[in-house]
Amino acid sequence: MTGHISHNINWNDRYVQGTCNKKQIMMLKLQFIQNKQLKRLLEHGTYLTIIFVLVPAFVYFELVVVLPATVEEWSIPYFVHLACATFLLMNILGNMIYGMFTDTSIKGTVLDSENKENWTLCAVCECLRPPRAWHCNTCDICILKRDHHCTFFACCVGYYNHRYFMCFTFYIFVAMVYAFYYNVKFLAIYLKWNNGLVIGKFLFPLACFVIDFGDETVYVFLVEINFIVAMFTGFLFFYHFNNLLKGKVTPEIKHNSKEVTYNRGLKQNVIEVFGSRWYLVWLSPYFKSPLPGNGIEWNGEDKCK
Ligand SMILES: [Zn+2]
Ligand SMILES: [Zn+2]
Repeated sequence: MTGHISHNINWNDRYVQGTCNKKQIMMLKLQFIQNKQLKRLLEHGTYLTIIFVLVPAFVYFELVVVLPATVEEWSIPYFVHLACATFLLMNILGNMIYGMFTDTSIKGTVLDSENKENWTLCAVCECLRPPRAWHCNTCDICILKRDHHCTFFACCVGYYNHRYFMCFTFYIFVAMVYAFYYNVKFLAIYLKWNNGLVIGKFLFPLACFVIDFGDETVYVFLVEINFIVAMFTGFLFFYHFNNLLKGKVTPEIKHNSKEVTYNRGLKQNVIEVFGSRWYLVWLSPYFKSPLPGNGIEWNGEDKCK
């Protein structure tokens, strides 16, 4: 497991080993900082695009264009769809905001300086960290039970915000599958299938923006994005859900750590991520669901013993 520490760049070691001189170290440091800032900038761009461009574009398209075209306006099904859309939107944005603003790092936690079993040293934070906590180069701090760095949240997914990430991906997936069904219905009614340009719009949506910019082109493009996002979030959700059922985080799956396992059986593994009120977290991110531990104390079962 100590292999994780090698992810951290230790400039001093390189200098001492003689693989780099002082000037090269300075250049490497500068490059590292620039790459990190670029990554941060891209991440901020990603979630701002989601919140201010993609979500409003989809809400408008689904509720103002597709819904009145596929369901009779002001009928009971019309209001049922409106209620479902509101529920999904609240859960997607709510879980995203909670996930972003829930601190899951070691900052502010009192870590016992005494060396305990399975604790490792972080060369960057210069402290001993609990089992399953790893350093994130982008967040620049150690994260409790670190799963991965999430570009949509612009922060790490760890012990305290794992539940929000799971609900966020789940509801985007559900919303995208739900929308896709009605979007296909809508396109079948709306598109004029009598010319070859329609096929072109499906194959080269971006090129068609130049040739024939109109409602039709925009709608086809949105439905294609809809399909891609559904596939992507579906994969993300099922991959991470499968991991959490096994009681593992992504690095433990990747490095296939066989020495220590934190698998406590299906139900306990679910509670470890979603908290004691695991059945309520699916209704809203505002429901509190206390986690059984503190992300520091881990009683791993040592398989080597
Ligand atoms: Zn660290
Ligand atoms: Zn991170």
